[in-house]
Amino acid sequence: MQALAKRKQRSPALHSAKGFAAAETLAAPHQHSQTRKRTAGIANLRLGALNLFFLAVLTTSLFVACAKRPLSPSELRAITVEVVAASQRISTHKSEITIRPEVREMGDRKISTDHIYVTLGGDSEITALREALGAIARRHHLQLVESGASVRRFDFTFNGERTHSIHIVSPLAERSRPSPGRSVRVPRLAIIIDDLGNDRAAADALLSLPFPLTISVLPHLPLSSEIAEEAYRRNDQVMLHLPMESQGESAPSEGTKPEEIELRVGMNRNQVHQVVSSMIDTVPHVSGVNNHQGSRATTDAALMQAVMEELRARNLYFIDSRTTASTVAYDQAHAARVRAASRKVFLDDVPARDAILAQLDQAARDATRDGSAIAIGHPHPATIAALAEEAPRLEARGIRIVFASDLVQ
Ligand SMILES: [Zn+2]
Repeated sequence: MQALAKRKQRSPALHSAKGFAAAETLAAPHQHSQTRKRTAGIANLRLGALNLFFLAVLTTSLFVACAKRPLSPSELRAITVEVVAASQRISTHKSEITIRPEVREMGDRKISTDHIYVTLGGDSEITALREALGAIARRHHLQLVESGASVRRFDFTFNGERTHSIHIVSPLAERSRPSPGRSVRVPRLAIIIDDLGNDRAAADALLSLPFPLTISVLPHLPLSSEIAEEAYRRNDQVMLHLPMESQGESAPSEGTKPEEIELRVGMNRNQVHQVVSSMIDTVPHVSGVNNHQGSRATTDAALMQAVMEELRARNLYFIDSRTTASTVAYDQAHAARVRAASRKVFLDDVPARDAILAQLDQAARDATRDGSAIAIGHPHPATIAALAEEAPRLEARGIRIVFASDLVQ
């Protein structure tokens, strides 16, 4: 509880909203101005019960369901208000609620979905919410779809289109964290999820997993800053997923697409500094770096030396994703006295449940044999579901899930 209060102090902007009108224009003041522009329209807030009550009365009285057109913004929002009110009633106002409106362009049409993130204490509260959502769905002629055994989500759809996603998030206080202090050779496993920065829903599903997770965020993407901020708020660890030149770039037939901004062979120390600085500006709270692609860049000793000098100056650790067997990144990191480690297992080269569970098992056996291991995955639904399913079993096997920073040396 104390930790929760501390975290809240770190993001005062999230709590200053006085209601929906304020929420629509809310932007965290500490965000980079460029980022603020990109994330305009995305509102995170906690809502006062009183405001909700008046809004609910006002908007439901105006609300008329019509079967053939999409929901209007005010209809959509009225339903959101009902969901929030139900969540607060069920949790006796203890629930932490965040709303993120999403608008997708489909040809000339705009499709709106409200994402509502609700922390709930346990199964009885989820059961009560399921009932309340059923009643809301009937009132507004919506379909209610429930998904996920471990990452729980309820969707409303209207004429086949998703209007609301209600994500059930485990409360911060309930998340298990590695206890500090001495460990008696407990096998340790770090799980890094790469390639974040585009998909907030996937990020939120990951960040609600009840174990320490290291997320590696690609720079310069629309949600890079926002996702890094949320991971930090939830006490997960943030890495910069640093795009580097890959072997296939001169041969487009291999299907690798060069990133717009990346580290390329031939860049000098100053150019490396410029590129890394611009990237870190878009990913706050970075504690380390791993390479995105880089099958060419990580074989180039001069470039890797420049990169490691930059990381050393910033006191960041390095995880070699090992996208090629002839990488020299790890050796160069050690030469520059940058704390480093190498990836042992890719979790989801085959993004299917059984394959991912088998890779997690491999990572667990590596950790048991060697004392520690690092596994890298991606924000695929199958990966998130497999992690949710397998993590309790890993812990039951005596393996401790830790941050990447715990395994660098
Ligand atoms: Zn990547």
